[in-house]
Amino acid sequence: MPTVIKQDDVIESVAGALQYISYYHPPDFIQAMKNAYEKEESRAAKDAMAQILLNSRMSAIGHRPLCQDTGIVSVFVNVGMDVQWNATMTLEDMINEGVRRAYMHPDNVLRASIVNDPAGARKNTKDNTPAVIYTRLVPGNEVEITVAAKGGGSENKAKFAMLNPSDSIVDWVLKTVPTMGAGWCPPGMLGIGIGGTADKAMVMAKESLMDPIDIQELIARGPQNKAEELRITLYNEVNKLGIGAQGLGGLTTVLDVKIKDCPTHAASLPIAIIPNCAATRHAHLTLDGSGPVYLDPPKIEDWPNIEWKAEGAKRVNVNDLKKEDLAAFKPGETLLLTGSILTGRDAAHKRIADLMAKGEKLPDGVDFHNRFIYYVGPVDPVRDEVVGPAGPTTATRMDKFTDMMLEKTGLIGMIGKSERGPQAIEAIKKHKAIYLMAVGGAAYLVAKAIKKSRVVAFADLGMEAIYEFEVEDMPVSVAVDVNGESVHTTGPALWKKKIAG
Ligand code: SF4
Repeated sequence: MPTVIKQDDVIESVAGALQYISYYHPPDFIQAMKNAYEKEESRAAKDAMAQILLNSRMSAIGHRPLCQDTGIVSVFVNVGMDVQWNATMTLEDMINEGVRRAYMHPDNVLRASIVNDPAGARKNTKDNTPAVIYTRLVPGNEVEITVAAKGGGSENKAKFAMLNPSDSIVDWVLKTVPTMGAGWCPPGMLGIGIGGTADKAMVMAKESLMDPIDIQELIARGPQNKAEELRITLYNEVNKLGIGAQGLGGLTTVLDVKIKDCPTHAASLPIAIIPNCAATRHAHLTLDGSGPVYLDPPKIEDWPNIEWKAEGAKRVNVNDLKKEDLAAFKPGETLLLTGSILTGRDAAHKRIADLMAKGEKLPDGVDFHNRFIYYVGPVDPVRDEVVGPAGPTTATRMDKFTDMMLEKTGLIGMIGKSERGPQAIEAIKKHKAIYLMAVGGAAYLVAKAIKKSRVVAFADLGMEAIYEFEVEDMPVSVAVDVNGESVHTTGPALWKKKIAG
């Protein structure tokens, strides 16, 4: 008898799995991150991993997203050839309905991050659809669904090359990973696809990230083929780069390296890397016709109960800060910010730049004089929350606006995640400003420091609007000081040397 799969079972199962992964890290990720935390010797990297683990536990308890970027949904479906459907919708429509229900769930609203017309108006679809869906027909009478929610920060660091067949894969990966900066919120996984065609290599890289972290088991049992040998070599060699958690320099940059390969043309060696970040989110479901699949909640005891305190941190009232005070802050110093900050990310910066270019004023209520801007797109609040998870977004995307913001708006500092590029560092030096970083992926933890929130301008941009946040003891560290010294340059250089001995 063929299995009959019902439309509602697919929708319900996908919706449930997406809610689940928004607040539960996979157990293998928690274990690998805990091990990396315990062995880390770099104070800054250890501190960042403590925040990620603490944030993960808080999200699991609070059933709220691990990260404010709740991702673009990727789905891999294996449909058994003997399955019959009791459905009026296409499989893609069923999955997208599941996405819609998950992201708009009133108890745990997730951030809608998808825009249509990507080269044009880039208008938010408001329900995080459509998902990116890959379907395969396989033998059997079940439907296997793997769902993942992939953050933009890590997806943006995907790399591809068409190597010569005689080129070294290891050399290419070791040359490429440092160019990815810290915007992918390491430590995480590298998914690598080798072979096939250009498109196939990318899909294999993505699909490899759906497997659990198991590099330590592989090292213990020893490699049995070339791909496994390569995984171990790359795991060891990438960690020797010293990039570390959040790019601050340290012992662990990758928790695992996954590889999928397939036959390719004799003239080609296609290779793709897609990193997975601190918000590693995926789940696996098998529908066998008996109804929707609900995943069992993990036990909270599986999370390490890490006490994190911002030791040695300096308390700073941002409302009292003037430009001349900024020289006192040293690279790597931890600060606890209290006071009022404004937010803004890609779309808001573009609007501000357009207004400035036309010689027009900023909207009422937007005054950056002697203030800090926080690069963030928060999740909407639920119940009594002031704001949903609100961690930093990748600062490098705002580099091209930095000189204009510092020159024309009276802004004195920025808060984001990852490194700044040469253009922004030059502007920071020129204007004697500073750049502070919060830990990417620790969004629920950061949100706890936000005591009030209101939209002050560009409300039509949704999560990209300009908000005013009142914060209390918001943990950040000085990532670029007034002299342009960047911890993302000094930290990895120091740890690379230390690891090399
Ligand atoms: S952990 Fe970092 S890269 Fe991943 S979704 Fe969150 S902000 Fe983006």
